[in-house]
Amino acid sequence: MAYGDQSVADIDIIERIDTILTLIRQTEASCRRETGSVQLLAVSKGHSASMIKQAFTAGLRDFGESYLQEAQSKLDLLSTLPICWHFIGPVQSNKTQAIAQNFSWVHGVSRFKIAQRLNDARPISMPPLNICLQVNFDEEASKSGIDPAGVEALASAVLRLPRLHLRGLMMIPRKNVDEALQYLSFVRLTNLLNTLNHNLSLTLDTLSMGMSDDWQAAIRAGSTMIRIGSAIFGERQ
Ligand SMILES: *Cc1c(COP(=O)(O)O)cnc(C)c1O
Repeated sequence: MAYGDQSVADIDIIERIDTILTLIRQTEASCRRETGSVQLLAVSKGHSASMIKQAFTAGLRDFGESYLQEAQSKLDLLSTLPICWHFIGPVQSNKTQAIAQNFSWVHGVSRFKIAQRLNDARPISMPPLNICLQVNFDEEASKSGIDPAGVEALASAVLRLPRLHLRGLMMIPRKNVDEALQYLSFVRLTNLLNTLNHNLSLTLDTLSMGMSDDWQAAIRAGSTMIRIGSAIFGERQ
Protein backbone atom coordinates (compact mmCIF):
# COMPACT_ATOMS: atom_id res chain seq x y z
CA MET A 1 0.00 0.00 0.00
CA ALA A 2 1.38 3.39 -0.97
CA TYR A 3 1.01 6.10 1.61
CA GLY A 4 1.96 8.92 -0.77
CA ASP A 5 2.96 12.05 1.06
CA GLN A 6 1.37 11.17 4.36
CA SER A 7 3.47 11.85 7.41
CA VAL A 8 4.98 9.20 9.66
CA ALA A 9 2.41 10.01 12.34
CA ASP A 10 -0.41 9.36 9.89
CA ILE A 11 1.06 5.98 8.91
CA ASP A 12 1.27 5.17 12.63
CA ILE A 13 -2.46 5.81 13.03
CA ILE A 14 -3.34 3.65 10.03
CA GLU A 15 -1.12 0.81 11.23
CA ARG A 16 -2.45 0.97 14.78
CA ILE A 17 -6.01 0.80 13.49
CA ASP A 18 -5.17 -2.20 11.28
CA THR A 19 -3.57 -3.93 14.26
CA ILE A 20 -6.48 -3.24 16.61
CA LEU A 21 -9.09 -4.33 14.06
CA THR A 22 -7.20 -7.59 13.54
CA LEU A 23 -6.96 -8.13 17.30
CA ILE A 24 -10.67 -7.38 17.75
CA ARG A 25 -11.57 -10.01 15.14
CA GLN A 26 -9.21 -12.52 16.84
CA THR A 27 -10.70 -11.79 20.25
CA GLU A 28 -14.24 -12.21 18.90
CA ALA A 29 -13.25 -15.56 17.43
CA SER A 30 -11.45 -16.73 20.57
CA CYS A 31 -14.58 -16.27 22.68
CA ARG A 32 -16.93 -17.56 19.98
CA ARG A 33 -18.55 -14.26 19.26
CA GLU A 34 -19.79 -13.44 15.80
CA THR A 35 -17.32 -11.64 13.52
CA GLY A 36 -18.14 -7.96 13.50
CA SER A 37 -20.26 -8.08 16.66
CA VAL A 38 -17.89 -5.63 18.34
CA GLN A 39 -17.76 -2.10 17.00
CA LEU A 40 -14.70 0.12 17.34
CA LEU A 41 -15.46 3.65 18.52
CA ALA A 42 -12.38 5.85 18.07
CA VAL A 43 -12.09 8.32 20.93
CA SER A 44 -10.60 11.45 19.42
CA LYS A 45 -10.69 13.82 22.39
CA GLY A 46 -7.36 15.60 22.73
CA HIS A 47 -6.53 14.98 19.06
CA SER A 48 -6.80 17.12 15.96
CA ALA A 49 -9.26 17.06 13.08
CA SER A 50 -6.47 15.96 10.74
CA MET A 51 -5.79 12.90 12.88
CA ILE A 52 -9.49 12.07 12.78
CA LYS A 53 -9.33 12.38 9.01
CA GLN A 54 -6.53 9.82 8.91
CA ALA A 55 -8.54 7.40 11.00
CA PHE A 56 -11.48 7.99 8.69
CA THR A 57 -9.23 7.20 5.70
CA ALA A 58 -8.28 3.96 7.44
CA GLY A 59 -11.96 3.03 7.45
CA LEU A 60 -13.31 4.19 10.81
CA ARG A 61 -16.67 5.99 10.85
CA ASP A 62 -17.54 6.30 14.55
CA PHE A 63 -15.75 8.88 16.67
CA GLY A 64 -16.20 9.81 20.31
CA GLU A 65 -15.68 13.18 21.96
CA SER A 66 -15.96 14.13 25.65
CA TYR A 67 -15.98 17.92 25.69
CA LEU A 68 -18.49 19.89 23.67
CA GLN A 69 -16.40 22.97 23.03
CA GLU A 70 -13.42 20.96 21.84
CA ALA A 71 -15.64 18.75 19.71
CA GLN A 72 -17.49 21.63 18.04
CA SER A 73 -14.54 22.91 16.01
CA LYS A 74 -13.68 19.42 14.80
CA LEU A 75 -17.30 18.73 13.83
CA ASP A 76 -17.27 21.94 11.82
CA LEU A 77 -13.96 21.13 10.10
CA LEU A 78 -15.10 17.60 9.23
CA SER A 79 -18.73 18.36 8.43
CA THR A 80 -18.43 17.04 4.85
CA LEU A 81 -17.40 13.54 6.01
CA PRO A 82 -20.10 10.97 6.87
CA ILE A 83 -18.89 10.54 10.46
CA CYS A 84 -21.13 9.18 13.21
CA TRP A 85 -20.34 11.31 16.26
CA HIS A 86 -20.72 9.96 19.79
CA PHE A 87 -20.75 12.16 22.87
CA ILE A 88 -19.08 10.12 25.63
CA GLY A 89 -18.42 12.72 28.33
CA PRO A 90 -20.61 13.82 31.23
CA VAL A 91 -23.59 15.80 29.92
CA GLN A 92 -24.22 19.17 31.56
CA SER A 93 -27.69 20.72 31.39
CA ASN A 94 -26.55 23.78 29.53
CA LYS A 95 -24.92 21.64 26.78
CA THR A 96 -27.90 19.44 25.97
CA GLN A 97 -29.15 21.52 23.05
CA ALA A 98 -25.85 21.55 21.18
CA ILE A 99 -25.28 17.88 21.89
CA ALA A 100 -28.76 16.92 20.69
CA GLN A 101 -28.24 18.89 17.47
CA ASN A 102 -24.77 17.61 16.60
CA PHE A 103 -24.33 14.03 17.79
CA SER A 104 -25.84 10.65 16.85
CA TRP A 105 -25.15 8.96 20.18
CA VAL A 106 -24.87 10.01 23.82
CA HIS A 107 -23.25 7.41 26.10
CA GLY A 108 -23.25 9.13 29.47
CA VAL A 109 -26.90 9.65 30.39
CA SER A 110 -27.55 9.03 34.08
CA ARG A 111 -30.36 11.46 35.01
CA PHE A 112 -33.89 11.78 33.67
CA LYS A 113 -33.69 15.55 33.54
CA ILE A 114 -30.78 15.33 31.10
CA ALA A 115 -32.60 12.75 28.98
CA GLN A 116 -35.67 14.99 28.83
CA ARG A 117 -33.64 18.01 27.77
CA LEU A 118 -31.90 15.97 25.04
CA ASN A 119 -35.28 14.72 23.87
CA ASP A 120 -36.77 18.20 23.76
CA ALA A 121 -33.82 19.59 21.82
CA ARG A 122 -33.49 16.78 19.28
CA PRO A 123 -34.47 18.25 15.88
CA ILE A 124 -37.45 16.57 14.25
CA SER A 125 -35.47 16.45 10.99
CA MET A 126 -32.96 14.05 12.54
CA PRO A 127 -33.43 10.42 13.59
CA PRO A 128 -33.95 9.84 17.32
CA LEU A 129 -30.80 10.29 19.38
CA ASN A 130 -29.19 6.98 20.43
CA ILE A 131 -28.77 6.75 24.19
CA CYS A 132 -26.77 4.60 26.59
CA LEU A 133 -27.36 4.86 30.32
CA GLN A 134 -24.12 5.13 32.26
CA VAL A 135 -23.93 2.81 35.26
CA ASN A 136 -21.63 3.37 38.22
CA PHE A 137 -21.09 0.08 40.05
CA ASP A 138 -18.19 1.14 42.17
CA GLU A 139 -19.91 4.04 43.91
CA GLU A 140 -17.06 6.22 42.79
CA ALA A 141 -17.99 9.80 43.55
CA SER A 142 -15.52 11.02 40.93
CA LYS A 143 -17.46 9.32 38.15
CA SER A 144 -20.93 9.99 36.93
CA GLY A 145 -23.38 7.20 36.37
CA ILE A 146 -26.48 5.81 37.97
CA ASP A 147 -26.55 3.22 40.73
CA PRO A 148 -27.44 -0.19 39.22
CA ALA A 149 -30.55 -0.32 41.40
CA GLY A 150 -31.93 2.74 39.61
CA VAL A 151 -31.37 1.61 36.04
CA GLU A 152 -34.75 0.00 35.46
CA ALA A 153 -36.73 3.07 36.52
CA LEU A 154 -34.55 5.39 34.45
CA ALA A 155 -34.78 3.11 31.40
CA SER A 156 -38.59 2.99 31.68
CA ALA A 157 -38.74 6.77 31.77
CA VAL A 158 -36.31 7.24 28.86
CA LEU A 159 -38.30 4.76 26.75
CA ARG A 160 -41.24 7.17 26.88
CA LEU A 161 -39.25 9.98 25.25
CA PRO A 162 -39.99 9.81 21.51
CA ARG A 163 -36.95 11.70 20.27
CA LEU A 164 -34.57 9.32 22.05
CA HIS A 165 -33.69 5.75 21.11
CA LEU A 166 -32.52 3.83 24.16
CA ARG A 167 -29.80 1.42 22.98
CA GLY A 168 -28.17 0.01 26.10
CA LEU A 169 -25.73 0.59 28.93
CA MET A 170 -22.27 2.08 29.34
CA MET A 171 -19.65 1.86 32.08
CA ILE A 172 -16.22 3.18 32.98
CA PRO A 173 -14.85 0.70 35.52
CA ARG A 174 -12.35 1.30 38.24
CA LYS A 175 -8.83 0.73 36.90
CA ASN A 176 -7.65 -2.84 37.19
CA VAL A 177 -4.50 -4.33 35.67
CA ASP A 178 -5.55 -7.92 36.22
CA GLU A 179 -7.51 -9.21 33.23
CA ALA A 180 -9.58 -11.65 35.28
CA LEU A 181 -10.71 -8.81 37.54
CA GLN A 182 -11.42 -6.60 34.52
CA TYR A 183 -13.63 -9.35 33.16
CA LEU A 184 -15.55 -9.72 36.43
CA SER A 185 -16.06 -5.98 36.54
CA PHE A 186 -17.46 -5.81 32.98
CA VAL A 187 -19.65 -8.86 33.29
CA ARG A 188 -21.76 -6.97 35.85
CA LEU A 189 -22.94 -4.65 33.06
CA THR A 190 -23.69 -7.60 30.76
CA ASN A 191 -25.79 -9.21 33.48
CA LEU A 192 -27.55 -5.93 34.19
CA LEU A 193 -28.48 -5.49 30.52
CA ASN A 194 -29.80 -9.06 30.35
CA THR A 195 -31.92 -8.48 33.46
CA LEU A 196 -33.20 -5.17 32.11
CA ASN A 197 -34.15 -6.73 28.77
CA HIS A 198 -35.87 -9.58 30.58
CA ASN A 199 -37.78 -7.51 33.13
CA LEU A 200 -38.98 -4.86 30.68
CA SER A 201 -39.31 -7.18 27.65
CA LEU A 202 -36.76 -5.18 25.68
CA THR A 203 -34.11 -6.03 23.09
CA LEU A 204 -31.49 -3.40 23.94
CA ASP A 205 -28.36 -4.36 22.01
CA THR A 206 -25.53 -2.12 23.16
CA LEU A 207 -22.90 -2.63 25.85
CA SER A 208 -20.49 0.30 25.63
CA MET A 209 -17.47 -0.86 27.63
CA GLY A 210 -13.74 -1.34 27.21
CA MET A 211 -10.97 1.22 26.68
CA SER A 212 -7.32 1.03 25.53
CA ASP A 213 -6.12 -0.91 28.57
CA ASP A 214 -8.99 -3.34 29.12
CA TRP A 215 -10.90 -3.84 25.89
CA GLN A 216 -10.05 -7.52 25.44
CA ALA A 217 -11.60 -8.40 28.80
CA ALA A 218 -14.58 -6.23 27.86
CA ILE A 219 -15.12 -8.20 24.64
CA ARG A 220 -14.90 -11.49 26.51
CA ALA A 221 -17.54 -10.14 28.91
CA GLY A 222 -19.89 -9.20 26.06
CA SER A 223 -19.04 -5.64 25.00
CA THR A 224 -20.54 -4.55 21.69
CA MET A 225 -18.77 -1.20 21.48
CA ILE A 226 -15.25 -0.52 22.70
CA ARG A 227 -14.12 3.08 23.10
CA ILE A 228 -10.45 3.35 22.15
CA GLY A 229 -8.41 6.54 22.33
CA SER A 230 -4.70 6.33 23.11
CA ALA A 231 -4.16 2.91 21.50
CA ILE A 232 -5.15 4.51 18.17
CA PHE A 233 -4.05 8.12 18.43
CA GLY A 234 -1.24 7.98 21.02
CA GLU A 235 -1.02 10.16 24.10
CA ARG A 236 -3.52 12.99 24.36
CA GLN A 237 -2.52 16.66 24.25
C1 LIG B 1 -11.08 9.11 27.09
C2 LIG B 1 -12.14 8.10 27.12
C3 LIG B 1 -11.98 6.85 26.49
C4 LIG B 1 -10.70 6.42 25.78
O1 LIG B 1 -9.68 6.18 26.69
P1 LIG B 1 -8.30 5.49 26.24
O2 LIG B 1 -7.76 4.92 27.49
O3 LIG B 1 -7.45 6.57 25.67
O4 LIG B 1 -8.62 4.45 25.24
C5 LIG B 1 -13.05 5.97 26.51
N1 LIG B 1 -14.20 6.28 27.13
C6 LIG B 1 -14.40 7.45 27.75
C7 LIG B 1 -15.70 7.73 28.42
C8 LIG B 1 -13.37 8.40 27.79
O5 LIG B 1 -13.56 9.56 28.42
